Amino acid sequence: MAGFTRRKFTKLAGFAAASTMLVAPNIARAARPKVVVIGGGAGGATAARYIAKDSDGAIEVTLIEPSKKYYTCFFSNLYLGGFRDYESIGHTYERLASVHGINVVHDWAAGVDKAAKTVTLASGAKLAYDRLVIAPGIDLKYASVPGYSVEAATAMPHAWKSGTQVQLLKAQVENMKEGGTFVMVPPPNPFRCPPGPYERVSMIAHILKQKNPTAKIIILDPKEKFSKQALFTEGWAQHYPDMIEWIPASVSGGVKNVNPETMEIETDIETFKADAACIVPAQKAGAIAAAAGVTDGDWCPIVPATMQSKVDENVHVIGDASVASAMPKSGFAANSQAKMAAMAVRGALVDAKTFPPRFANTCWSLIADNDGVKVGAAYAAGEDKIEATETFISKTGEDAALRKATYEESVGWYDGITKDIFG
Ligand SMILES: Cc1cc2nc3c(=O)[nH]c(=O)nc-3n(C[C@H](O)[C@H](O)[C@H](O)COP(=O)(O)OP(=O)(O)OC[C@H]3O[C@@H](n4cnc5c(N)ncnc54)[C@H](O)[C@@H]3O)c2cc1C
Repeated sequence: MAGFTRRKFTKLAGFAAASTMLVAPNIARAARPKVVVIGGGAGGATAARYIAKDSDGAIEVTLIEPSKKYYTCFFSNLYLGGFRDYESIGHTYERLASVHGINVVHDWAAGVDKAAKTVTLASGAKLAYDRLVIAPGIDLKYASVPGYSVEAATAMPHAWKSGTQVQLLKAQVENMKEGGTFVMVPPPNPFRCPPGPYERVSMIAHILKQKNPTAKIIILDPKEKFSKQALFTEGWAQHYPDMIEWIPASVSGGVKNVNPETMEIETDIETFKADAACIVPAQKAGAIAAAAGVTDGDWCPIVPATMQSKVDENVHVIGDASVASAMPKSGFAANSQAKMAAMAVRGALVDAKTFPPRFANTCWSLIADNDGVKVGAAYAAGEDKIEATETFISKTGEDAALRKATYEESVGWYDGITKDIFG
């Protein structure tokens, strides 16, 4: 892929120093310290892999994840837009087990006893740990959108967790009647993947332009502004003129009710009748975080340098579930935080050398064929917060060659990060 190799990703993600540390090779296997990781997504699988790989087997790592195959949310919009097939965004845990010796347990973590340092599985089994990494991603607060529910998500998918919801949404968009209306309801802040709803609209517009060019897209946003707004607005005018209408809450009064039977979405200004809809409610840390007692409100406060929970130094919380301040909730960010947590865990358990943490993130979005844009930053751990040290963003009016190169960079990134997560 032009320009963005796995090696470059490794460098950009800032973990070269962390990944070269070694530990005493002759630690007796029987006395190996134990790490349990809850959640095999972008954060958890990376943490498990880096703890196992960089401790050279000196730490016993168990990864708990219910699914046998993880479908990434990142690039799921490109699947919606017809740029990827579904299987290309699916990844298994086989290499984490066979190459890195991680015990991969396909089950749910049901409870954590912080005093006894054990995790109870849904099956009833108990796992002991010296350090615990919690990386359960998000749960959806369905009731934040009146009328929305788990059941309603069949008619009006959120498609905000990886898996079959995205397939459902794609089928519903492709089956819309000619000249029909698609309604997108993005979530309020803070939420997973700030540019995600707007990339999703772009990819759905891309499909409709080909298959149903008189269709319309209405965005009923609870917010007054959104990530990369100038770039998306410019791109929509250029590629999909008159197709997309963005309506902020100050104009609509907000969504008052959704009815999955009639496919109606009620606001102060109008009740919109959708032929297909995507409703993404407000979010919170995956439920196991609250069950473990590491949340404060919806999310988990952390010590920036090590991603340790502010509640318990034996627990690290990474990825979307954590309060990472300036860092957005993204797969890139989760992967970056995981490597810093892995370094801290190895430092604590096998005396591996540690370095000042460095974090990184870039979020790419595809607006249309070969029209990619990005926003990103480098970060350092402040006393109380993760802070941005450098930021960058694509500019409006960039030429087509640069936009194509940005898209190709994102494809290289996807290849690099999924190898970095799953081995
Ligand atoms: C449409 C969309 C587009 C996106 N695009 C991008 C992008 O281009 N770039 C980017 O960087 N990010 C993107 N993201 C965001 C990215 O997907 C998330 O930020 C990232 O997956 C967070 O990683 P995580 O490890 O915190 O959570 P997840 O990746 O969701 O992993 C959590 C895992 O924990 C498991 N789990 C939950 N509870 C339990 C339990 N009790 N026991 C055991 N396992 C449990 C789940 O099954 C899941 O596999 C996008 C998201 C969406 C929705």
